[in-house]
Amino acid sequence: MAERMLKFTTVARRTPEKRAAEERNGDFHEIYADFIDAKATEQASRCSQCGVPYCQTHCPLHNNIPDWLRMTAEGRLEEAYALSQATNSMPEVCGRICPQDRLCEGNCVIEQSGHGTVTIGSVERYLTDKAWEMGWVKPLVAAADRGQSVGIVGAGPAGLAAAEKLREQGYAVTVYDRHDRAGGLLIYGIPGFKLEKDVVERRTQRLADGGVEFKLGFEVGKDATLEDLRARHDAVLIAVGVYAARDLAVPGGGDKGVVPALDYLIASNKKTLGDDVPAYDSGELNAEGKDVVVVGGGDTAMDCVRTAIRQGATSVTCLYRRDKANMPGSLREVANAEEEGVTFEWLAAPRALSGDADAVTGVKAIRMRLGAPDASGRRSPEEIPGGDFDRPAQLVVKALGFEPENLPQAWSAPDLKTTRWGTVKADVRNQMTNLDGVFAAGDIVRGASLVVWAIKDGRDAADAMHRYLKAKAGAPALIAAE
Ligand code: FAD
Ligand code: SF4
Ligand code: SF4
Repeated sequence: MAERMLKFTTVARRTPEKRAAEERNGDFHEIYADFIDAKATEQASRCSQCGVPYCQTHCPLHNNIPDWLRMTAEGRLEEAYALSQATNSMPEVCGRICPQDRLCEGNCVIEQSGHGTVTIGSVERYLTDKAWEMGWVKPLVAAADRGQSVGIVGAGPAGLAAAEKLREQGYAVTVYDRHDRAGGLLIYGIPGFKLEKDVVERRTQRLADGGVEFKLGFEVGKDATLEDLRARHDAVLIAVGVYAARDLAVPGGGDKGVVPALDYLIASNKKTLGDDVPAYDSGELNAEGKDVVVVGGGDTAMDCVRTAIRQGATSVTCLYRRDKANMPGSLREVANAEEEGVTFEWLAAPRALSGDADAVTGVKAIRMRLGAPDASGRRSPEEIPGGDFDRPAQLVVKALGFEPENLPQAWSAPDLKTTRWGTVKADVRNQMTNLDGVFAAGDIVRGASLVVWAIKDGRDAADAMHRYLKAKAGAPALIAAE
């Protein structure tokens, strides 16, 4: 093994080729090229096969990274793929959009020895893309029909991961989603330059081909209550994500030109998918020819600034009230945005919007500094007296984060227990809410988080629901036998 592995001292770290900024700014395609076979094998061979692999510990799915890296280095690609997909429902998605610098790669020991981390995410993406190309991704085959059904609300990564596992076990699975396409934020939040849409669509198509029923354009709270679903199914999974956008609490500016991030991204994603989007065509949700200011420092803000660049904005500025080191978004994406021409104003916050009732014309901002730590231990930003400055803006995008919608109210389910943040309370041991047979997974439990955590939760919830449903199916027989 040794001669195939441990090459980190002789082989330099390489990520897949990145398209030049001038080229990628003109379209919504992914910016990284595919790893060629030889490159993936070579990069995998840099792994030192740690006895205690911190990469694995820090992957939320505890992927068996050292083993599939070794198999890749040895050219055993199909086996490597089989191992990688055993713990991850969408390895090619995680390989593309996990913030690896904070998870697996951020904890790779050879990084700490100064040699540059193993490119785990790129190898993971490569393996699964290769598997699709070679036909190693097998159709979903359901076990014998169990005569029980499951309703999943939300076709995001949590709902899809659960749907796959439950269908495999032989349950009739119906996934409800209020959007017209399945995929959740993978389709309508995250832009194509990070994750192309056909990568997600082939996953949902595989589920549909395997018998998962999708009821799209179906909104729980409007088209059914939670009780309706409980009556219809033996178990229900709530996997609806978090969508109540935090607002910008500053005076001034008209409504026109000040838009929530997700409205802006959905319009852009729909356009990329070829849909008719009147609000984009009218210019309302289109940055072309405008000075754009995006407020926020998370992944959503990064996706908005880079979308605006691709739409042909005149200038794009991101205002974030903390510094670069304390921003929640991925530093890799900040670097990509900087290359693409985005101006970052770190330690800066909006104080007011200029303009009249008809249209916004600019943002009045103020410089900030980091003061004393707050209750959470994070240093609170505070204004620097006299640090005012102005930015012109005909489009202001509010990307300040998301909170849960009020589900007990919207779904006529006053008994459904939520936390003080509005997330659904689910038992950590079995993902069940306080309502019998109703489970919850993903952002609606954690608050806004990551795709890889949603997948983990969806898989765990499916296992717990399977245990619950087996017990439920067995119960009458046991009682009858007594
Ligand atoms: P979602 O993906 O939100 O899916 C929930 C689904 O439920 C949606 O399809 C919604 O339409 C549906 N739904 C909601 N309410 C109802 C209802 N009442 N009835 C029927 N259906 C309903 N994470 C990363 O790991 N990497 C990234 O690069 C990244 N970038 C992001 C960029 C943006 C712009 C955003 C907003 C998030 C990003 N995230 C990223 C976070 C990630 O997308 C989420 O953590 C993840 O999608 C959560 O999965 P989920 O299945 O819980 O919910
Ligand atoms: Fe790393 Fe994400 Fe893959 Fe885990 S799922 S190995 S964290 S890229
Ligand atoms: Fe290989 Fe790095 Fe994981 Fe160690 S921490 S097993 S070197 S990828």
